[in-house]
Amino acid sequence: MKHRNWSGVQFWTPKEVVYPTSIDDLKQIVLSAKERGLRIRAIGSLHSYNDLCVTPDIQVHTDKLNKVLSIDKNKMQVRVESGIKMKALVRSLAKEGLSLPNQGYILKQSLAGATATATHGTGATGTLSSFIEEIELVDAKGNVQILNPKTNEHLFSAAVVNLGCLGIIYAFTLRCIPLQKLKLTKVKSNLKDCLKELPQLLKTYDHFQFGICPYTEKVITVRYQKTDEPIRNRRGYILHRSLLKFLAILSFEYLPSPRWYFPTSFKTYRAISNNFSCVDESYRILSPSDEGLYVEEEIAVPVEHLESAIEEAKNVILEFSKDHPLMVAAIYVRFVGPDTRGYLSPTLNQSVAYLTYVTKIKDGFRELFQAFENAMFKYRGRPHWGKIHTLTKEKVKELYPQTYDRFVEAKKQLDPDGLFSNAYIHRLFEGDQK
Ligand SMILES: Cc1cc2nc3c(=O)[nH]c(=O)nc-3n(C[C@H](O)[C@H](O)[C@H](O)COP(=O)(O)OP(=O)(O)OC[C@H]3O[C@@H](n4cnc5c(N)ncnc54)[C@H](O)[C@@H]3O)c2cc1C
Repeated sequence: MKHRNWSGVQFWTPKEVVYPTSIDDLKQIVLSAKERGLRIRAIGSLHSYNDLCVTPDIQVHTDKLNKVLSIDKNKMQVRVESGIKMKALVRSLAKEGLSLPNQGYILKQSLAGATATATHGTGATGTLSSFIEEIELVDAKGNVQILNPKTNEHLFSAAVVNLGCLGIIYAFTLRCIPLQKLKLTKVKSNLKDCLKELPQLLKTYDHFQFGICPYTEKVITVRYQKTDEPIRNRRGYILHRSLLKFLAILSFEYLPSPRWYFPTSFKTYRAISNNFSCVDESYRILSPSDEGLYVEEEIAVPVEHLESAIEEAKNVILEFSKDHPLMVAAIYVRFVGPDTRGYLSPTLNQSVAYLTYVTKIKDGFRELFQAFENAMFKYRGRPHWGKIHTLTKEKVKELYPQTYDRFVEAKKQLDPDGLFSNAYIHRLFEGDQK
């Protein structure tokens, strides 16, 4: 069966496709693959932009591992199967008066897929991986490993951000918080003012992010604050998102969108958004999902370098646009607090600002992203594992000097022969590039 990822930049045909429904199925898949000398890649919703999910051998679809196994309101914990989609998860929690501490921009990913790449939202919480309290994983011998900080701190720290190469995850136990309401407000600004007010904005709002039109100084800020106000403007928000989605599809897919047009499109986006406000339960408004079809590279830079990093990121786009008049890009900025575990977490022990380049799927985006990466490496920028990047083994070692070897040790322990490997994993952890 032919596979393609969400953005349609990767295509492949695995030899076998399986849909497990239980932990026993997972053990069976592992033992049978070993016997036949085939490799395995588990997948969630295929929303990773790069070749993370690609395999020529066995593709394990986790769509049927989608149950909420138990909810413990006293401990504020939920135990769920790994393939559950984020949307189903947050809705089930809301019915019990609970929510996750944060959410990403969309809810289409599976939980295992999202945490495998340290998917994040914006706010002082860490990445989604930091909500994990226990992992139930089938390793390369077909054994079940129950990993938590008490049973095995080392393997747990490797497994919370695992890139799918330590085993197949059957279930997670996650930390929850009480369901809360948020007030969402969008306010237009310019880059200079936004950066000047940033410390205050980050203090005032529970979740804060902004979008930049790199060809101008214009910015749109998105602010979320906890509130006891009654729910309002739910329908208005649905309409607002539909308008933005329409605009995104026009700008990124259908219009030729030359460089001169993009500021006009951003101006419309700002005008529609300015002073928009609504109040709703957090899980309904933290993931607006107003996407068109585009590609992204996202890089986490230590928050103290934000101002210079934005300046450079803008300049890269401006320089690139000179030779590529039909290639336009926007920059989004989100904030994530430190993760305390996760050898491969871009936010491990540090607060970061994530800078995202969003651009059209056209020839040339890889060149643009490469220039963006090179500029961000000066600030110890760490690319998102699920988005486009050009990392090599040597570069990952350099970006994760304290934890790279620890991750490789854990990988050797759980998967000594690379049963869960593919070309992406080989490039980063097994290859012998200089
Ligand atoms: C429109 C869009 C919006 C996005 N928004 C955000 C955002 O707001 N924030 C952010 O940080 N990222 C975002 N991303 C990136 C996305 O969250 C990540 O790429 C995520 O990994 C995708 O989840 P998935 O379920 O599609 O996983 P897949 O892409 O299918 O898989 C990702 C990884 O998980 C592994 N995996 C999956 N299931 C298992 C399992 N059961 N056991 C072991 N390994 C497994 C796979 O092997 C692979 O390595 C976005 C992507 C898109 C396309």
